[in-house]
Amino acid sequence: MIVILKPKSSPAAVGELTENLEKQGVTVNPVYGTDLTILGLVGDTSRIDSSRVEANRIVERVMFVAEPFKMANKLFHPEPTVIEAGGRSIGANKIAVIAGPCSVETEEQIREIAGEVKAAGASFLRGGAFKPRTSPYAFQGLRHDGLRLLQIARRETGLPIVSEIMSPHDIDLFAESVDIIQVGARNMQNFDLLKELGRLDKPVLLKRGLSATIEEWLMSAEYLLAGGNGRVALCERGIRTFETYTRNTLDLSSVLAVKKMSHLPVVVDPSHAAGKWWMVAALARAAVAVGADGLMIEVHNDPVHALCDGQQSIKPDGFRALMDELRPIARAVGREL
Ligand code: PEP
Ligand code: MN
Repeated sequence: MIVILKPKSSPAAVGELTENLEKQGVTVNPVYGTDLTILGLVGDTSRIDSSRVEANRIVERVMFVAEPFKMANKLFHPEPTVIEAGGRSIGANKIAVIAGPCSVETEEQIREIAGEVKAAGASFLRGGAFKPRTSPYAFQGLRHDGLRLLQIARRETGLPIVSEIMSPHDIDLFAESVDIIQVGARNMQNFDLLKELGRLDKPVLLKRGLSATIEEWLMSAEYLLAGGNGRVALCERGIRTFETYTRNTLDLSSVLAVKKMSHLPVVVDPSHAAGKWWMVAALARAAVAVGADGLMIEVHNDPVHALCDGQQSIKPDGFRALMDELRPIARAVGREL
């Protein structure tokens, strides 16, 4: 329950109301804005008679928190969150571009792609080492070696690295190897994994689940925040719908919805959404126009021979061209790239 106070309520009256509410067994968290003060009531509010609270002359309105997520909620944290990782940020005015191959394949491959995306202006290098593949016969990733090769590429380019974790057993390995731990769509509701990641002081990029509602996605973010890890960025990567032309349906409206409800930054991944390389640039432009805080783009130097997701990977020259196209769009929406 949230109690919105009238502007310029006297501190004495606010103190009295707080005391009265706390006597009823809840904790009161005040948020002092420039104009308004709001009281967030945490605990069992079921016994509080909201009409009596509203009868108090300093109370403007009582609202029930329809959303079950609290720490991810903008109401309690009006300022947008900026995630710092490896000297770069997500959620600041500059749009974060995370680029690289679906999977790390060889040292040559990751070093070449890293150099290309760095030169084009990417802020982070992505690369899967532990791959969640639908088929057990498909390439599963280079695993430990993949993380090692990413670190070589990081040393060479200075780009912080982003890679996907699949199991809580690998928490220590990821915590020491990468700059941002990616939780993939398939693990968005792996609650044991989320609880473990919640204990870390390491940024997490939480992808939206295959068929997850926005509320379910934010509840998963809540697991991380509730565990004490406030360094969470979200990633919209398309959801499953009845449409089969594209791999997924990119839900750009989720960027707006998340920004309305939460303070967490949102990145858009048009590559996994479309599943088609020729759609990636246009969807990336749309994502920037709609207000995304970042992009995740799959880039491969030889998509035809890629071991994973070549069909949706753009080439380095296409990525360079895309970055040039994005700059004026970013400026038009008050951002930089
Ligand atoms: C990926 O980023 O390579 C990936 C597997 O993405 P998603 O979890 O969105 O399918
Ligand atoms: Mn991929």
